[in-house]
Amino acid sequence: MEKVIEIRHLNKFFGANEVLKDINLSVGKGEVVSIIGSSGSGKSTLLRCINLLEKPSGGEIVYNGQNILAEKHNVSLYRRHLGMVFQQFNLFNNHNALSNCVVGQVEVLKRSKDEATETAMKYLRNVGMEQYIHAKPKQLSGGQKQRVAIARALSMDPDVLLFDEPTSALDPEMVGEVLKVMKDLAGSGLTMIIVTHEMEFAREVSDRVVFMDQGVIAEEGTPEQIFNNPKQERTREFLKRTL
Ligand code: ADP
Ligand code: MG
Repeated sequence: MEKVIEIRHLNKFFGANEVLKDINLSVGKGEVVSIIGSSGSGKSTLLRCINLLEKPSGGEIVYNGQNILAEKHNVSLYRRHLGMVFQQFNLFNNHNALSNCVVGQVEVLKRSKDEATETAMKYLRNVGMEQYIHAKPKQLSGGQKQRVAIARALSMDPDVLLFDEPTSALDPEMVGEVLKVMKDLAGSGLTMIIVTHEMEFAREVSDRVVFMDQGVIAEEGTPEQIFNNPKQERTREFLKRTL
């Protein structure tokens, strides 16, 4: 399988605290990889290192064959190819839904306003938010905000979309509508890395599941392997606590 991102021997220190330890992970084109693990195990830090919101302390991130952590690599060009969906939506509160999906395209990708609007409308329609394009974030429910955030990320035509617990801040009745959108995306061939506590969802949509514990990848495998037949005691313990 063609690799999109390959992480090699990545580590990350906060002061003396090593929160990621020798992480090795490769993600193939069109693959859906879920990352599970206890709070504090390093899942968010790993995602934030992948899109360089945090600077890794060591190791390599190889994207399309190039180590983007090498000196002089054009980091902003790399970041343009990654989309991110956050637990807390991170929408621009003074912009309406449509405008949230347009500004990045115009400012970063230098698209014309017309082209950006057309692209934004396509994705807002995909996530079922076409009726709310003029609504500001404060007029939307959590599930609706997250669907706009997903449309915004998609509008940038990312090669890889990263999700950091996209349903954790939602009221229970809104989790389903967001997972449904994500499931459709997974089926569409988009490359996705998803940090989630939704075990049923991870089992259903992932090609591969990665279990993190105390800064290391303790185990990875297919959903069947991880959920039905985990090899590591700590994976079993974690699943017993969460399922
Ligand atoms: P998870 O997302 O799995 O809950 P995090 O990646 O958020 O875990 O955190 C992993 C560890 O790194 C935790 O011990 C956390 O306290 C620490 N950490 C995360 N961000 C920072 C930061 N900006 N400064 C210092 N420590 C941090
Ligand atoms: Mg986290």
